[in-house]
Amino acid sequence: MKTSTATVSIAGDLGEKLAAIAKAGFDGIEIFEQDFISFDLNPADVRRMVADHGLEITLFQPFRDFEGLPEGPLRQRAFSRARHKFDLMCELGTDLMLICSSVHPEGLGGIDRCADDFRDLGEIASSYGVRVGYEALAWGRFINDHRDAWEVVRRADHENVGLILDSFHTLGRKIDPDSIRTIPADKIFFVQLADAPAIDMDLLYWSRHFRNMPGEGDLDLPAFMDALYATGYDGPLSLEIFNDEFRRSDAEMVARDGHRSLINLMDDLRRRSDRPLPSLPVLPDRVDVSGVQYVELACKPNDMSGIESLLTKVGMAKTGTHKSKQVTRFQTGDVNILVNSDADGRSFGLASEHGAVVSEIAFATPDAAAALERAVALGAEPVSLPHHPGEQKIPTVRGVAESLIRFLDPTMDIWASDFEKPVSSTAEMNGVHRIDHIAQTMGYNEMLSWTQFYTSIFSMAKSSMVDVIDPEGIIRSQAVTGHDGGLRLTLNGSEAQRTSAHRFVADGAGATVQHLAFAVNDAVEMAEHLHQNGFSILPQTENYYADLAARFDLPDVFIAKLKSLHILYDEDDSGGFLHFYSTVFGNGLFFEFVERRDGYDGFGAPNAPFRLAAQRRMTAAASL
Ligand code: MG
Ligand code: MG
Repeated sequence: MKTSTATVSIAGDLGEKLAAIAKAGFDGIEIFEQDFISFDLNPADVRRMVADHGLEITLFQPFRDFEGLPEGPLRQRAFSRARHKFDLMCELGTDLMLICSSVHPEGLGGIDRCADDFRDLGEIASSYGVRVGYEALAWGRFINDHRDAWEVVRRADHENVGLILDSFHTLGRKIDPDSIRTIPADKIFFVQLADAPAIDMDLLYWSRHFRNMPGEGDLDLPAFMDALYATGYDGPLSLEIFNDEFRRSDAEMVARDGHRSLINLMDDLRRRSDRPLPSLPVLPDRVDVSGVQYVELACKPNDMSGIESLLTKVGMAKTGTHKSKQVTRFQTGDVNILVNSDADGRSFGLASEHGAVVSEIAFATPDAAAALERAVALGAEPVSLPHHPGEQKIPTVRGVAESLIRFLDPTMDIWASDFEKPVSSTAEMNGVHRIDHIAQTMGYNEMLSWTQFYTSIFSMAKSSMVDVIDPEGIIRSQAVTGHDGGLRLTLNGSEAQRTSAHRFVADGAGATVQHLAFAVNDAVEMAEHLHQNGFSILPQTENYYADLAARFDLPDVFIAKLKSLHILYDEDDSGGFLHFYSTVFGNGLFFEFVERRDGYDGFGAPNAPFRLAAQRRMTAAASL
């Protein structure tokens, strides 16, 4: 199936939209009339510009308030408007126009009256060599259900008149998508796709402001696609996304997200289907991540000793150095932290200016080459890095901001091939055993994009979005988790100018990871040990522990212990969660230490406001 998008889905003028759409890999565009009218080129030049981008115009839209008008001047004017648009379509080089169901106050409705109008229009369209497709708007005055629009098309009985389906109008009105299964494919001229979050509001307002990419919302797009595929439809799948946020966002990012959502939707459809689907793309399986193989911090040489001391206090031992780069390996349990102070490193400039940053995350996957292939098919940008003979060539894509995501698999023993033999013995302490989660901070408008990136490329699912109260505003937090908990990420964003999340991004010039959470078996023991090592734990308030006693049924002696060590506590239905934080270092980074009891599955979100407030107190104290 061809991929297409309405120009209205993307920010910018028509030229900027086309460049972004072509770069993202779409086959075609729906030209939204307003985008054409407000653009300063004639139809022939626009036609050429579209072709120069390697795109085709799949649809001209919208044509409103055509059908069901009373006999007389209103009806005549509707037909003459249509002839005018057919002329324009011929100049633009497109043969299909979308007519959305009428909301005209003087419209009369009537299935047969509307069918007669379409039959007459079909005759005119055929003389121009063009076709018209009828779409039921969810708020159409009389026709607001694709089943009624199909009845009009069926009775019009003209080969230049067909139906246009739009997933929003069908699913947004809770119309059973299985009703599509009885429509013949050759009468479905075009399909528009959009998702939307489940919000109970006026349909028109919901549609014009809150649509989003398939998979980003709560509509049952898979059921819609299954029904569509059952008809044998093989035409374009086209995004028609009205979204205030997207219109403010980077055109290339939104176009890339859109294309990724369509490829992912088709890939899922092919996997669900029991028969061969020749027109769908074939991608490698979703990437299963069994764990984080390493996290690399970039820092300047002067910061090296501070970081080394921090990691040593955490119980990590220096166990190797890279053969060809200024990179040191620190290790404890399954956790590997690489510290890169190489002046040739990609993130060296950033780290020199802002302090240590997370520059790479390496995921353990079953097949690194297949992981790269899937990621790139879904719009990830491959990054090719120089490597010395004998060292592993590690498949790599760009991650959040300037960081890199690297894919490793069991055939790649980087510790043997890329690193010198251990420079010291293993850690003396059995504390941190693996990375529990990684928290990434980004602009609010990038959150949907990165959520989609992780959930389409990897075997990961999103949980519901959580609002965290920062002293300066709201931070939104979205967790994405691998099915066996092998990889957990939290994505955090804020629009409020003064929240820590916003400042982290704004100040950090490409900041990416804000904290690394280490899994420990016994948080109390770990905190005591860190305390003895002179590691500074983020202090919490007395009031927090008084409140804890009120909220949970916990022994006084346990709460006193938590308080003495500044450990935070949460519970869900399955178990308890003990966690505490380091103070901030480098480019706003910090560590978290977490103990999950009995299958607790969250991230201690109720405690996030107290962590943020504590960090703010420390920043304020430091600047006195
Ligand atoms: Mg539509
Ligand atoms: Mg956390």
